[in-house]
Amino acid sequence: KEKNVLLDEPAMRRALTRIAHEILERNRGVNDCILIGIRTRGIYIAERLAERIYQIEGERIAVGELDITLYRDDLSHKVEQPVVNGSHITEDVTDKKVILVDDVLYTGRTVRAALDAIMDTGRPLMIQLAVLVDRGHRELPIRPDYVGKNVPTSKEEMIVVELSEVDGRERVAIMEK
Ligand code: 5GP
Ligand code: MG
Repeated sequence: KEKNVLLDEPAMRRALTRIAHEILERNRGVNDCILIGIRTRGIYIAERLAERIYQIEGERIAVGELDITLYRDDLSHKVEQPVVNGSHITEDVTDKKVILVDDVLYTGRTVRAALDAIMDTGRPLMIQLAVLVDRGHRELPIRPDYVGKNVPTSKEEMIVVELSEVDGRERVAIMEK
C-alpha cells in the first residue's frame, strides 16, 4: 500500500531535540528524572533523548525498559489487551519523576499498563509521557506531555515508525492497513 512520509530523518532529529529541550525546561534540568522506554522502539527513542539531554545539559539520565505487547484476547477477539512481559527498571522510581517514552500513542491502553507496571515497583513523584507520534483515538483519559508530531488518523490507517537501530533507516510514514 501507498505510504505518505510524515517525518524524514532531519525532521525526526529536530523533533527529538525539541522534546529533549522541553523535558529539560519543564523539569528545570533532569535532577531526579528517569526515562522508561516501552519495548522496541520506545526504548531507542528514550536512549536518543538521554543522549541529547547529555549533549545539551551534561547530565546523564537513567533509561529503564518495559516490554508491553498487545495480545488479541481469545474471548473478546476484537479487543487487543496490552500485556506486560517484563521490565528492566534498575533505578528505584520512588520519589523520581518518571518520563515514559513510546513511539506511537493510540488508545492509551499500553500506557495504562505501563503506569500500573511502574507503580508496582515504587511510588514515583510524577509520571510524564513522551511519544514520537500521537495518532488520536484515545479510549482512556491519557494525554502526552511531549509529542513529536500530532497525526490525525482514521482507524484504517497505520503509522509506520522506522528507526535506524531496528529498521536501518529513519522515517515516520502513514499507510492504509
Ligand atoms: P495503544 O495501546 O495506545 O492503543 O497503542 C499504542 C501501542 O501500540 C504502542 O506501543 C505502539 O507502538 C503501538 N501502536 C498503536 N498504533 C500504532 C500505529 O499506528 N503504528 C505503530 N507503529 N505502532 C502503533
Ligand atoms: Mg509499541
